[in-house]
Amino acid sequence: MARMEATARPLRIGHLYPDLMNIYGDLGNVIALRNRAAWRNIPVEVVELGEGSWDAREVDIFFIGGGQDLDQSRMYLDLLGKRSQLVSAVTSGAAILAVCGGYQLLGHAYSDAHGKVLEGIGLIDGTTTAGEGRWIGNVVVEAGEALGLGPVPLAGFENHGGNTWLGSGVAPLGRVLVGGGNNGVDGTEGAVQGNVIGTYLHGSFLPRNPRVADWLLAAGLRHRDKAWIGPLADLDDTVELAAQRSAVAIAMAEKGRKAVARA
Ligand code: GLN
Repeated sequence: MARMEATARPLRIGHLYPDLMNIYGDLGNVIALRNRAAWRNIPVEVVELGEGSWDAREVDIFFIGGGQDLDQSRMYLDLLGKRSQLVSAVTSGAAILAVCGGYQLLGHAYSDAHGKVLEGIGLIDGTTTAGEGRWIGNVVVEAGEALGLGPVPLAGFENHGGNTWLGSGVAPLGRVLVGGGNNGVDGTEGAVQGNVIGTYLHGSFLPRNPRVADWLLAAGLRHRDKAWIGPLADLDDTVELAAQRSAVAIAMAEKGRKAVARA
């Protein structure tokens, strides 16, 4: 039986640094989360959490997108100032999806192409260093065990010079079938640490990977309700899964793609 929506406050999605960290359609992730809640008659609202003060306590799902090195260097100190708030939110069960530049800053540190070290907030046990090459193109990942989705394909688009190396306290989001993923060497893509997901996949990621969107929504609802009051209602994902299939087919044509030399 589908869950019944109690008269709770709206499910709250916090869009971190929407002005600076938002490239390659990353905003589509927020739209997908909002719509997939609304289609199920779950009251939902999106709050923008930019530079300056805000209160993370009643945010259920955070999203941070990608950005160029310059944008990251402009906002990372502000993000560091929010570290304790975000750690408390995650400890209390809130979820986070972080894409590319945002993913890098959720790790311990990002050493950029100029050798500048941007300290991250450490919610993901990983470290990123700019490499000699740049990964640009379509990606297919086979989901790993961390999300419990089974070995489903995930599709997206990557464009990054940073290579991320995961520590022992985190699981990869999946295994790269096409593309560079975390670093082009160890075959991993992304990271899952508790309710925090990091990935290099832009494009947007959630509209064509709806199972991941629903995983985040379920985590967010558990955080809001302090309980789990039933499974999400099924949605007709015919269009989303067709988009995923065609993204996978397009990416498969790039199998064996290598990094390009850094400009
Ligand atoms: N600036 C980072 C890199 O090139 C992130 C880029 C992005 O978010 N697409 O690694």
